[in-house]
Order: sequence, then C-alpha cells, then structure tokens
Amino acid sequence: MLCPICQQKTLSQTSHKCSDYLSKHTFTLLNCHACGCYITQGISQNPTTDYYGTAYYNSKKGKFSPLIEKIFRFNHKRNAQFFYKNFQPKRVLEMGCGRAYILRELKQLGVQVYCLESAGAAEWILKNEDVNVLTTEQENIWPTEFFQLIVFWHVFEHLPDPITALEQATQVLEKDGVLCISVPNISSYQAQLALATWFHLDVPRHLFHFSKKGLIELLERHDYEILKVTSGDAIQNLFGWFQSLANLFTPYAPNTLYRFLQGGSAWRKVAKFPLLIQLLTAIIWVPIGLLGYIIEELTAHYGTVTIFAKKKV
Ligand SMILES: [Zn+2]
Repeated sequence: MLCPICQQKTLSQTSHKCSDYLSKHTFTLLNCHACGCYITQGISQNPTTDYYGTAYYNSKKGKFSPLIEKIFRFNHKRNAQFFYKNFQPKRVLEMGCGRAYILRELKQLGVQVYCLESAGAAEWILKNEDVNVLTTEQENIWPTEFFQLIVFWHVFEHLPDPITALEQATQVLEKDGVLCISVPNISSYQAQLALATWFHLDVPRHLFHFSKKGLIELLERHDYEILKVTSGDAIQNLFGWFQSLANLFTPYAPNTLYRFLQGGSAWRKVAKFPLLIQLLTAIIWVPIGLLGYIIEELTAHYGTVTIFAKKKV
C-alpha cells in the first residue's frame, strides 16, 4: 500500500490490536517500513461523537485537576514566550487550540491570534471570546501568506488528512514564515516498549502516528527548511514513560493513572482495583521511567517531538 506520508509503497498491516480506554473499541495499525510512521485503522463513521466529547475534554474549566492544569498553563506560557522571542510574529494561527493557553498568552504580548477548529469541537472552544476561532467548514478565510507563525500543538496526529492540512497551512503562511509541529514520537523508546498500550498512542483520536524521521521528511518534501528539532514537552515525555510502564501491570485497564489525575467525572468512572495496582507499582515504574526519560533525552528519541521549519518558497 502507498504511504500517504512518504509516498512509497511500503505500508502494510501490523498485528497490533489497540484498545481505546474510553470507547473500549479495538483498532489495528498500518506501518510504513520506509518512514516508520503508523496509521490507525477501523475508525467509526462518527469519530467526533464516538471518541471525543466530555470524557475526553473533561470540562471547560480544564482537562485536568486544578494543580495539573496550572502546570500545563505554565508550560504553554513558556511556549508562547519562546515563539514571541524567537519569531516576533504579527499574526499567529494555531490549528486546534483547545483552551487556547498559547494564543491567550501571545495576545497579551500584542500578537493577533487566530485558531482553526473542526466544526465538531466543543461549543466553549468555538465561542472563545479571547481568540478569533473559525472552523474548517468556512473556506478561503485568510489571504495567502497572511501568517508569520503557524502552530500545530498536539493536533497534527488527530487530523484525518494531515497532508492536506499541511498544504492549506503552507498557503496562508508567509515565505520565510515558521511552522511549528509538536507530536508524539512513535520512534521513541517508550513507544517501542509496548506499542499497543503506549500512553501517547491514544487511538482512535490519534489517526497518524509520526516518527521523527517521517515528519522531518514530510516537511522537507513540502519545501520547508528544518530549523530545529527538539524534545517536546518534558511533562508529556516523562508521563508517557510512567503511564506506559504502569499499563504493563494492568493491560486490561490502560491509562487509569491518567484518568485519576484528570480528576472530576473522569476520575469517578475509573475502576478502583486497577488504579490501586498502578499506584502501588509506582515503586517500579518511577525509577525505570526516570531512567528511560533521561536516555531518550540524551539519544534524541524523545517521547514527543517538536519541529520548527521555515517555508522556503
Ligand atoms: Zn511512509
């Protein structure tokens, strides 16, 4: 089969059976031997209603309990400051902005901020008054070469057609403008440890699973110059290790620890026995996870990867 990412006929079915911790549906994966990317198979006809909704977003107040939410917000504030300091954009587009932490911070710094969301996103996302949120159903919204910076922050892997989204983003990005894509890295060691229960696999919400190499090559083929390839979010990378290791002890109830940390209604639905096992085995997965995290950072096999690329033509 033809790989949509690298355009080679090197895509084939794998034997991985991956279960969704929310819908309990099972999915299979295709793998490309050339670029190392994977693609989720077996999605329902109504992915937005079947796989997202309140179980995924939790609530408007946040996806996590207040302390974790504060850490996320702080992280996004640092990301926004990094974008501002390094690229000084006048106009920024974020593809899928969720609670819009990055954009709200950039707006405070005087940047004009825009977000493109799927029409099926939660109403509180679409009606965010701080940000200009438009949906993919509205066509030709911006003139070509309108933005100096376009960000896909843990969004690219959710898109049913990331290649077309990349081409659309390229159209509205200025020449010499910067594209920033941050995604889970399926060529990381934590992913290869036990792919089907890897925390960041998150099937079926993640449809495309990029390897660092596959994503770099994709951008280069679309006339981008790679400026920087860095480790993604430290918390995501470290938690990816912790949760993926804890899942090995309760493969029938994955991501229990994560739902516990989410708090609110997510936590109330968690089966308490697997949670107890995941908590008690912390004595094993904390030291191994820390070691795995350090090795990944030192060898550039990051659990999540962020790529900055400049539009050349
Ligand atoms: Zn490929």
